[in-house]
Parts: sequence; structure tokens; C-alpha cells
Amino acid sequence: MNYNAWFQCSEGCDEKYPLTEIIYQCQKCDGLLEVGHDIEKLQHRSAAAWMSLFDQRYMRTVYPYGSGVWGKKEWVCPNVDDANIVSMYEGGTNLFWAERFGKELGLENLWIKQCGNSHTGSFKDLGMTVLVSMVKQMISESVPIRAVACASTGDTSAALAAYCAAADIPAVVFLPRDKVSHAQLIQPIANGALTLALDTDFDGCMRIVKQVTRTKEIYLANSMNSLRIEGQKTVSIEIVQQFDWEIPDWVIIPGGNLGNVSALGYGFLMMRELGVISKLPRIVCAQSQKANPLYLSYLREFEEFKPLQAQKTLASAIQIGNPVSIWKAIGVLQQFDGIVGQATEDELANAAAWADRTGLFNCPHTGVALAVLIKLVQRGLIRKDNHVVVISTANGLKFPEFKINYHEDKLGREVKPKHRNLPIELPADYDTVMRTLDKQLE
Ligand SMILES: *Cc1c(COP(=O)(O)O)cnc(C)c1O
Ligand SMILES: [Zn+2]
Repeated sequence: MNYNAWFQCSEGCDEKYPLTEIIYQCQKCDGLLEVGHDIEKLQHRSAAAWMSLFDQRYMRTVYPYGSGVWGKKEWVCPNVDDANIVSMYEGGTNLFWAERFGKELGLENLWIKQCGNSHTGSFKDLGMTVLVSMVKQMISESVPIRAVACASTGDTSAALAAYCAAADIPAVVFLPRDKVSHAQLIQPIANGALTLALDTDFDGCMRIVKQVTRTKEIYLANSMNSLRIEGQKTVSIEIVQQFDWEIPDWVIIPGGNLGNVSALGYGFLMMRELGVISKLPRIVCAQSQKANPLYLSYLREFEEFKPLQAQKTLASAIQIGNPVSIWKAIGVLQQFDGIVGQATEDELANAAAWADRTGLFNCPHTGVALAVLIKLVQRGLIRKDNHVVVISTANGLKFPEFKINYHEDKLGREVKPKHRNLPIELPADYDTVMRTLDKQLE
């Protein structure tokens, strides 16, 4: 069966373009594009047959179908030849049953989707595999592309650099100078990307990269490019698959540029269209209080949206004041009885550290989602027996400064760490060690 997908206007115009066209916005209304699929053709296969096909492929060895993204190729990007797929076996990440943390919070069914257990340490790999594969496809069809470029708060650039390096395609990354972690900065450098650190914030980098990619020879890899969204939507499909095709009651997602909230929503909607699920979960978007334009719009029932100047936040990957996917995200939240919450610096740091004490190792963005979860439980909106999934967007190992400074109480005046744990420095002397153990383990 030959499935097909294309770009279409996400704001309702009739415009359609092939996936190999270098275009990111509708030519009629300037709205963002989304990827459209031939749903009728996909419906020829029953929901049960799709589930069994996906289960057969999931985390197995047939390249590239063992990937959590490419195992669902027909729903994601059927147009790319297998030979052009650039995959690092993305997806297949642990859905961690947070039994102890859940208990401490009063929840029986709390799960953390560990999207950071991935090749470059964040969920950005899921979208980047699709985008870079399509670029390879276009290059194989002689479309003149000199390089792929993105603006980034640190994780998009890491993913772009790794996938481009594997495919031998030049990558250019624009980072806000001194606003990403050391680990995030060294990733594109190690992978040989042309790394430009600009004296601005993410929104400033985004403005520049939009201009740079106006010449079609430099292809834009930000989530404005809806190919990324197609890969990221597999997160919701994979979660449902990991629950043996049952949906959770709640999904909590940290949001910055708001591509991921949109993507997860689209994944659930597609499953419903194709009969895999019959209900939708409620979606919660969690923002940092320092960069909360969606939250402010939510308070006014999305009647209006105003971009703002994002303030410095520990959740640096979501320090965004003018999110590109704002209207897609609002559309999704309206269909999923959505909620937007926000977290202060103190709340996000303590939430991350509290959950760390129960065996996790959270990045600050996951901390934002956990802080919002805690508040929704306290408000009685999320109840004891609800099935809740928190999307952990990156691996905590990418943010050592955040972790160390928390335990050393050096995160600044706004954070009062409640879960500090410091090493005890001792002489290498048995008696002193034993005395200390006796005291500490009392
Ligand atoms: C990109 C990113 C986000 C935000 O995702 P958006 O799609 O921009 O909303 C959250 N957390 C981490 C770690 C990220 O890298
Ligand atoms: Zn349009």
C-alpha cells in the first residue's frame, strides 16, 4: 500500500504542498503548515491491525522499524525511502512507574515518560530524525540544500548536529550566548556543527534564523517546520502502546515554543481518527513563571495572545516569550479540555529535587511539569486513582550546574532548597567513618 503525506495549512486554507517543497508557512495566510495524511487510505487497515503491526516492530531489530518513530512510519512520514532514513533508534523510552514519588504525593498511578533517555538526551531526537531524513531524501532528488539550520535553547541544536553528522549534511546552529548548559553547548561542537553563539536570547536567534533560511538553500530545522511535529507525535502513540493501548487520564507537558504540546495532541487525535482509542486524555501545559505567555493567555480563556520578553529561568530550554506554535497549541488545549499551569523557580527546583530523591534525575523542565502536577493534586483536580503521565523532556545529566548549585544552595535568592544532600568530607580513617555512619544512619 502506498501511503501519502503532504504539507497543508494549519489554519484551514486549502493550500497543499509536497513534503519535498522548501516551505514552512501557508502562502495564502502565513499560518504554520502541518503534515496531512491520507486518513482514508490508512483506515483501510483496522485499528487492531495497526496496533499489532506497531507491536511487532517495537524495539526489534529490523532497521529502521525498531525505532519508536519509524516503527510507525505510515503515520509519520511515508514519503521517505527507507534508504534515506537517518535513525538512531529514537523512542522506545522507559515509561517509569513513579511508585514512590506518586505515593508521597498521594497518587497511585503516576508515570514519567523518560524522553530524555535518548541519543542526544532529549525528546528533540524524535522530530529531528524525520526532518533530517526528509532532507536526505530531498538531496537524493537533487534539491540544492547547502546546510540545515536552527535556533535553539540547547537541545534542538544537539539533535540537529548529531543527525546531520551521521548523514554527512552540514549543520548550522544559533544559540543564545551563555544561556545554555555546558553539556548542551559542547554537543553541537563535538558533532562538528557550525556553532554561532549570538548576543541575544532564543527569540532573537529565532528572528535571525528565519531570515537566514529565506534563501532556500539553508533549510530550517525549528519546530515551525512541521516535519518535526510528526516525529514528536509518536510520544503519545508510544505512551498508549506502553499502557497496552489504554489512554491515561492526564498528560503534563513542559512548554516553551509549544511544538511538543501540539505534537502530542496530534498523536492522540490521529489515534482516535484511526480507531485505536475512543477518548482523549486531558492535556496540561506547564510553563515557567518567567516565560509564561501561554499561561497568561489561558487566564483570559485564550481570547488573546501577547508575546512577551522571557525572563531568565532555570528552565532554560523553555525560556521563550514568543512561541512559534502558539495557535496550534491553543487549538490542541481547547480540544483536550486543557489546563495551563506555571511554576516559580523555587517550585521547579524543589519539585525536581524531591522526585530525584525517589530515584529520578530530573532536568529543570521536567521540574516545571512536576511542580504543576503537585499543585493540581493539591487543588484536587488530579485525583488519587487518576492515571497521570508527566513528560520528562530531557536527561538531567545535561544540567549538572542546576543540580550541583541546588545542593550547594547556590541557585540564588529565589530558590530555598528543601532536599539538599551534601557529601561529607572525612579523613580516610576507619573509626571516624564508623562514627559518622552511626550518626547519619540513626
Ligand atoms: C524543547 C524543549 C522543551 C519545550 O518544547 P517545545 O516544543 O518548545 O514547547 C522542553 N524541555 C526541553 C528539555 C526541551 O529541550
Ligand atoms: Zn493558510
